[in-house]
Amino acid sequence: MNDIDLMTKIVSLCKRRGFVFQSSEIYGGLKSAYDYGPLGVELKRNIAAAWWRSMVYEREDVVGIDASIIMHPKVWETSGHVSGFSDPLVDCLNCKERFRGDKAPKADPGTETTYLKGGKSGGEKLKGVVGPRGYVCPVCGSSDLSEERQFNGMFRTTLGPVDPLDEFFREIKGKDLSERDMRGVYEEALKRSLVYLRPETAQAMFVQFLNVQQSSSMKIPFGIAQQGKSFRNEIVVEHFIFRSCEFEQMEMEFFVEPGTHVEWLQYWTNERMNWYRKYANKGEAFRLRQHEKNELAHYSDDCYDIEYLYPWGWGELEGVASRTDYDLKRHGAATGTKLSYFDQNKVDPETGKNGWRYVPYVIEPAAGLTRSVLAFILDAYSEERGVDASGQEKVRVLLKLHPSIAPIKAAVLPLVKKDGQPEKAAAIAKELRLAGLNVTCDEQQSIGKRYAKHDEIGTPFCITVDPQTIEDNTVTVRFRDTAEQVRMPIAECVEMVIKSVRHPN
Ligand code: ATP
Repeated sequence: MNDIDLMTKIVSLCKRRGFVFQSSEIYGGLKSAYDYGPLGVELKRNIAAAWWRSMVYEREDVVGIDASIIMHPKVWETSGHVSGFSDPLVDCLNCKERFRGDKAPKADPGTETTYLKGGKSGGEKLKGVVGPRGYVCPVCGSSDLSEERQFNGMFRTTLGPVDPLDEFFREIKGKDLSERDMRGVYEEALKRSLVYLRPETAQAMFVQFLNVQQSSSMKIPFGIAQQGKSFRNEIVVEHFIFRSCEFEQMEMEFFVEPGTHVEWLQYWTNERMNWYRKYANKGEAFRLRQHEKNELAHYSDDCYDIEYLYPWGWGELEGVASRTDYDLKRHGAATGTKLSYFDQNKVDPETGKNGWRYVPYVIEPAAGLTRSVLAFILDAYSEERGVDASGQEKVRVLLKLHPSIAPIKAAVLPLVKKDGQPEKAAAIAKELRLAGLNVTCDEQQSIGKRYAKHDEIGTPFCITVDPQTIEDNTVTVRFRDTAEQVRMPIAECVEMVIKSVRHPN
């Protein structure tokens, strides 16, 4: 199966089975946004819960918050996002594609290029030379490119009942202003109500550092975790849910004593890598990549990406960054708040006296939740070739999701819709539901088709109710990954399913 085939199959499965739909599809769809269907929402919530469990519930030193998406606009000025959260936007003058210069295919300056006019097959062959910026158009390979323009990726909107356009028109009425002056008036009018949709969840953890530390009496080292929506006006949205404009993140800011940050960075990269591998089938498809010095963000002194081997190659899944004391210092200075920590048991290295007040350093594991949904689906997707009873070749498609994150934990399947079987199936399902499991009773179609459907959506167990069940309270359990079928008493089956869907340690 080639890589394009695999993505096509995944996108089709996601739609057909109700994992992910195009946003507003019946209106022609919105390219940069997706809706999670009945199975997708379960998978996404289960991955989020697995992260929360490992980052918050299993630890004494991390607590969570749920901050608002709209924050004071000054937060984004202080953090550097207003001036610096931009990507180089380039237009291909040949095929008109718009793309990010920093992500375009690299080529040595001065290298000769050949490409088709307008990027159209059968078009005239043109020649060019790679410019000093060292890249070509990702679509047609042309070196005939526009200048780079910095494009800020934050979504802007206004807060409150006043429309800045009304104010703008009021202010320019009767005045003969140049375009530049008019723009200035508009920016001023906008500024009064301008807010941003957050492009990351992280800043709330810095801004609420003191409130959380004091209200929960946290002692350094400690972390604040958050999950939620983030918004980036991406120049290019790509690879299905890999890069969209509205997406979800799972981030944690871990505050440490200066000087211990190198060790903590190692600790968190290992923790996070192990977390993915615990839930994955193919651990080797996850790797760590240390950032080159020239890749580091201005606030970071070291950073690792956890990368996944997507069908189009290695790409980021999570960044684990050492953010120094940059954020707390900046927000502290901008607001006149002491965003620092006093450790009475430590000696101040500068004065040599007991008691040390310092601005903590920060280690940040920043993961994409929606990107993780894609990675776990890709990791779980598997095709098994075999022959059916009539000798016909057939393909069994299955999602080998870890049972703890699978959308449906068990499907209870009465063989027929009569003879007390549906009632028995409902009773078994009820018992599993009472244990907190998402299960389904499925009576439609032949038993073979039902098995195939549940393989494809990742249900780890199919529990079949048949005439013998009515007689002796035993069921047949079919295991998704092996297709093996085992007969066992209902009580044993319920216990086995509950045990098997536990999170890995
Ligand atoms: P990339 O290099 O892919 O643009 P990034 O380095 O800008 O990512 P971070 O700012 O480190 O990403 O965000 C942390 C995580 O949030 C990323 O590792 C990714 O999983 C997720 N993420 C970032 N941007 C998007 C997006 N547009 N769509 C989906 N997930 C995203």
